[in-house]
Amino acid sequence: MKNIYAIGVGLIGGSLAIDIKKNNPDVIIHGISRKDTTLNTALELGLIDKKATLDDLGNADLVIVSIPVDATVKLLPTILDKISDTGLVVDAGSTKEDICKAVENHPKRRNFLAMHPIAGTEHSGPTAAIEGLFKGKTNIVCEVEKTTFKLQEKALKLFTDIGMRIRYMNPVDHDKHIAYMSHLSHISSFMLGKTVIDKERNERDIFDMAGSGFASTVRLAKSSPEMWTPIFKQNKTNVIETLEEYIINLTHFKELMKQDDFDAIYEEMASTNHIKDILNGIS
Ligand code: NAP
Repeated sequence: MKNIYAIGVGLIGGSLAIDIKKNNPDVIIHGISRKDTTLNTALELGLIDKKATLDDLGNADLVIVSIPVDATVKLLPTILDKISDTGLVVDAGSTKEDICKAVENHPKRRNFLAMHPIAGTEHSGPTAAIEGLFKGKTNIVCEVEKTTFKLQEKALKLFTDIGMRIRYMNPVDHDKHIAYMSHLSHISSFMLGKTVIDKERNERDIFDMAGSGFASTVRLAKSSPEMWTPIFKQNKTNVIETLEEYIINLTHFKELMKQDDFDAIYEEMASTNHIKDILNGIS
């Protein structure tokens, strides 16, 4: 593998570039982005070796697409049009069904591997890229059987070498599960932030009382709306289902409070403490 093209050099594309370059110092990382200023930053930070455009993709051994999921759906067919017969294209999008559908009948479908690295932070852009982001994290691979076996092998080696474990899932199941595990958490954090900001307009003192519990729960509300809006749009049905269940739980909690049923409230929290065991099993 010699020429790697990173389309999108933000948190995910930039962090992948750092780790892959570390393991494969001889590869040339070419960066492609919408804005030239973003590419200049990526160059200055050493995330990429060269700036490139989509017209250069003919000599790509690997193309990593890490741009918002609506842009991925639009651009992926063009990327596949431009690569050689031996080129591999992977995407890192947080939704998988629409992305897989966008290329299901493409003549080069077998050159594409759909994946979702379950790793990230609330920061975005090239300056957010960090080394070791993917170590010990899961990479969900979808429709692996639709990718040429040789290219599957190449991709899986690259991602296990940077410390990822691979999990296989179909795109429909991926989108359903990820709505609970990630998308709902982001909405809940955004709306917690909004609730406090709205209140703060009247009571400035509230931020003097914001402790680490508030900071950790609201952390995801710093995430980029440009990245998250298309995710919610593509996964609308699943996200609405998770929200309905969450709202039922919130309303139930409120009712218990109104009824002064603090034994039941204690039980609600005690039974949810079981999340500790689940999270210990994950990390
Ligand atoms: P990010 O830090 O905001 O980087 C995305 C980059 O994409 C931006 O720097 C932007 O650069 C570029 N871009 C936007 N539209 C583009 C287009 N049409 N063509 C080319 N470049 C474009 O976002 P990210 O967190 O790396 O996310 C990238 C992908 O990974 C998304 O699909 C996301 O769903 C997925 N993902 C994110 C996380 C996470 O926790 N953040 C985790 C796993 C997967 P310009 O400045 O040039 O516009």
